[in-house]
Parts: sequence; C-alpha cells; structure tokens
Amino acid sequence: MRILVTGGAGYIGSHTVRQFLTGGHDVTVFDNLDAGHKRAVPAERFVGGDLRDIDHLDHLLVVNRIEAVVHFAAFAAVGESVTHPAKYYTNNLLYSLQLLDRCRRNGIGKFVFSSTAAVYGVPNEVPIPETAPPAPVNPYGNTKLAFERALADYAGAYPFGYCALRYFNAAGAASDGSIGEDHTPETHLIPLVIQAATGKRPHVEIFGTDYPTPDGTCVRDYVHVDDLAAAHVLALAKVTPGAKLTYNVGVGRGYSVREVIRTVEDVTGKKVPVKHGPRRAGDPPALVARADAIRAELGWAPKYTDLKAIIETAWRWHQSHPNGYGE
Ligand code: UDP
Repeated sequence: MRILVTGGAGYIGSHTVRQFLTGGHDVTVFDNLDAGHKRAVPAERFVGGDLRDIDHLDHLLVVNRIEAVVHFAAFAAVGESVTHPAKYYTNNLLYSLQLLDRCRRNGIGKFVFSSTAAVYGVPNEVPIPETAPPAPVNPYGNTKLAFERALADYAGAYPFGYCALRYFNAAGAASDGSIGEDHTPETHLIPLVIQAATGKRPHVEIFGTDYPTPDGTCVRDYVHVDDLAAAHVLALAKVTPGAKLTYNVGVGRGYSVREVIRTVEDVTGKKVPVKHGPRRAGDPPALVARADAIRAELGWAPKYTDLKAIIETAWRWHQSHPNGYGE
C-alpha cells in the first residue's frame, strides 16, 4: 500500500515506519522535525513539511497516489496542553481536520489515528475497556477525542474507514538499539529516570505521592514501542471503507512511578536520586488498558509484557545514544 505517515520521524512514528517498510509498503514520511529526527527514518522516505501547510500535504497525497494515511503528527505533552491549549487545538484538531478533509476530497478511504488513553480522563473502571465513557480531563485528551468523533462522522457519511488506536504509555526502543526515544525537552518518565540514573540529571521528581493508588504514585500501562508499531500495521490491514474501529493499545498491567524507578535501578545497576513533588496538572491516578478487543479482533499480541524487558531496550538505546540522535 502507498502510505503517508505524518509525524513519521517521531518516536512511535519511526518505529511504525520501519515495520511498514519491512512489510513491503511504500511509505512517505511527512514530518516538521519539531519532535521528530531525520536520522530515525530512511532519508529517501523523508519529506520535510508542516501539517499547517495543507497544500503541501494535498500535493503529496496526489503525486504519491497515497492510499492510506497514518496520522501521528501531534503535540502530546499533557502538562503543556493545560497551559497552552491553543497550540493543541490548532495542531491536533484544526490541522488534523484539514488533513482529514483532503483525504476525503482525494478519495483516500483508509486512516489510522494516534489517539490516547487520555480520552478516558479519570476512569470509573480500571482496567479500562473501550466502552468506558470518554471524559478527558485535559486539553490534550479533548483534542484527540474531538478528532476521533470527526473520524466516526466521516466514516458514517463517506467511503472512508478508520482505526483509532488509544495508546497507553509508549516506552522502550528498537531491540537492536538503533532507534529510540529522544524528546527535547524530555517530559516522559522512563527516559527521565534513566537520565537521573546516569547522572545526566541530578534527580527525578515524582509528581504526586498522595494519589489513591497502592503506593500513592500514578499508575500507568507501559507498552513497548515496537508492539505499538505492530498495532498500526494490523490496524491498517483491517480498515475498509465504513470501518469505525477504536482500540486500546496497552499490555493490561499497570506500574506505579515508584515501580518504574525501582525497575530502572534494577536494570541499570545504579541508584536513582528521587525528589517528591506536587501532582502535575491533568494527570489521572491510574490508566491501565483492557486490551482484549485488539487481541481478539486484530490478533495483536505484545512481545513485551514485562516492564523490565521494556526498560532493558530503553537502557540499550540510552547507552548507545547518550545524546539521542545528536541532531
Ligand atoms: N512522572 C513523574 N515525574 C516525571 C515525569 C512523569 O512522576 O518527571 C509521572 C507522571 O505524573 C505520570 C507518569 O509519570 O503519572 C507517566 O508520565 P509520562 O509523562 O511519561 O506519560 P503520560 O502518562 O503523561 O502520558
């Protein structure tokens, strides 16, 4: 299939692009390199551009005779979305709607969307099934949910189908250590804890120790980035016009912030200096997936079900790329 991958040079995007290429697909990566890295994807696949430049995107859709769009390009920092919602509504919703409509106008009927567990807000039920009522508690989740709804409406009205993948916490790196996580600034827990373990940061701050969880810190479902990437490959194969698919992508097991820190200490053999801080705005106490649907309907089966194995791949990447991609 001829696929356009927006945000394909980013963390999850680049791992997914690699799997699409391995599967024999013809991939065009579209990325503004705001969070992505040119070195994360094969140079001949890369096109630099911004989502706001809809004419550029439209041109690529036509000239490359694109059959499917996999849409990663988005801002994804929960805390920032609370303080700077305009940035999130503009990019994650407005520009995404423009892209969606150009797909419609160009007769592109397959779409895979990076959604998020943040659409559930503070869930009533954990593990969270896809049938749980969405109720985001931060602007990031609001923008993702709004776009999911647009996808459903388009699929109801036009020859168009989609799969929205609600990611839990992406983690780890390619098992050969060649591509991995490199954000500037880094906001994600596992890379921050690894950096604190290696002395690159003085400490890691735990955001909140008074949550209603077993040890008082937030619980998340960490899913390996290659397993997440595999979900996109399976999702795209399943999307047909009229399809309205929405799946959680998580392992179904939660780990607290303290458990993540202990596991990093175990994997690296180094002590992690820790500080206790206040809660971060917009953080629900526990997000753990019920991921039976994607297993049953797409045949998805995560290769990494254990946090330690996930962190081992992240550690390998950090050791071989202490300065990330160095771009
Ligand atoms: N977290 C933390 N300290 C940090 C970064 C994150 O305690 O320096 C916590 C955060 O509050 C959340 C969990 O770690 O409960 C995972 O955060 P991350 O930003 O990695 O992913 P998110 O859950 O926001 O998608």
